[in-house]
Amino acid sequence: EGTAMDERLKAILKSHEKEFEAVSDQIWDFAECRFQEVKSAELQAKFLEARNFKVTRGIGGIPTAFRAEWGGGGPVIGFLGEYDALPGLSQKADCTEESPLIPGACGHGCGHHLLGSGNMEAACALAEYLQESGEPGTVVYFGCPAEESGAGKAFMVREGCFDGVDFCLTWHPNVYNGLMYRSLANARVIFKFSGVASHAAAAPEKGRSALDSCEIMNVGVNYLREHVSTDVRMHYAYLDAGGTAPNVVQPHAAVLYALRAPETAQVQEVYGRVLDVARGAALICGTKAEVQVVSAYANTLVPKSLGDLALRCVKEAVAEAAYTPEEEAYAEKFVTVGSQPGAKTALDRAVEDPAAAKMGGSTDVGDVSWVVPTVGIYATTYAAGTVMHGWTAVAQGRSSIAKKGMHTAAKAMSAIAMEILRRPELREQIEKDFETVKDGRVYKTLIPDGMKPGMF
Ligand SMILES: [Zn+2]
Repeated sequence: EGTAMDERLKAILKSHEKEFEAVSDQIWDFAECRFQEVKSAELQAKFLEARNFKVTRGIGGIPTAFRAEWGGGGPVIGFLGEYDALPGLSQKADCTEESPLIPGACGHGCGHHLLGSGNMEAACALAEYLQESGEPGTVVYFGCPAEESGAGKAFMVREGCFDGVDFCLTWHPNVYNGLMYRSLANARVIFKFSGVASHAAAAPEKGRSALDSCEIMNVGVNYLREHVSTDVRMHYAYLDAGGTAPNVVQPHAAVLYALRAPETAQVQEVYGRVLDVARGAALICGTKAEVQVVSAYANTLVPKSLGDLALRCVKEAVAEAAYTPEEEAYAEKFVTVGSQPGAKTALDRAVEDPAAAKMGGSTDVGDVSWVVPTVGIYATTYAAGTVMHGWTAVAQGRSSIAKKGMHTAAKAMSAIAMEILRRPELREQIEKDFETVKDGRVYKTLIPDGMKPGMF
């Protein structure tokens, strides 16, 4: 295979870099959390309208979701953008000490301000290129809200937002370059117990404790850990501990569970067993358990030929990225010593071998990957050892290293798209590989039918 990078495409990208940096900075400033991304979504929608994209707002019944389409005919290439921030992570830019801009406010700790802007950058470059060359092709940018905890794309899949799209691309900011090769299926479930209040000293026999139920449930799940496969993850957090008075039997309490495993089917099975534990806890305590799945993420599938193409394009784009001594020094200040085994420099310029890719988090890109052949890439935007979802990631979010990572990702994604558009035989191969990787399995979300986005 020759070079995937078209010189004209690179020149187009180069000439618009500052515009996308400005969008990214503004969204970093807005720092809106899940389903509240009103200003962020509108900024992007207006930007794309000004570049002749046809914008449809509020798709899938989600006010902060939108679709922006350019061109016509040919394959339809979708870019999955995001813009949601994380609660409680407000932080001053470039500051190496934890120091919120606005105490208690949201902050971009997962780099979704870069994520959306970089996807727009790739979509716009591709559109401009096709405009000039006259080649057929349809470019669609999807504004996808609430990736964090809200599984926005899972709802968008359910509502058919990606119907008619042939291929989807995206990227995610990170401390290294590579492919989004694996992500865990994940279900978030609230277990709400209700009991009977009573004076804990005068009439304990009349009380039925919801808090006891939560505690017994957690004990049960902690025993269950031994009897599930080692790659299953079960985490919990109290949403309601029943109040602050120890002399009152707590009549209400709630615990939120995140259940993760490599495959959705495994999560489904573990969920059934955790449900039994909750029922058992309610039976022991004489309480009632109310169960609500609030969001769910599918694991990610990558068709082999699409993954191979993406890896080649990432390698080429990363090879062209260069940092100044000032940027190296900036990153050095943020390096977290010891937490990144193997990192030799402050800015990781290697590309991870997909075979060695570890499974850690979950993403709703997984849901899209079951209905449209999809690939996501990682680009280095933060110093080695930076903890994603932490304040140091927020602090570096407006830096030139973060922006260089965004441009690297845009370059790689537009190159991937260009090859897909130009090579019909590759498209056929990707579609074949898509069927192979699905292996006869049918996508099914764990989100209940009637549930609306953001119902928690
Ligand atoms: Zn993220």
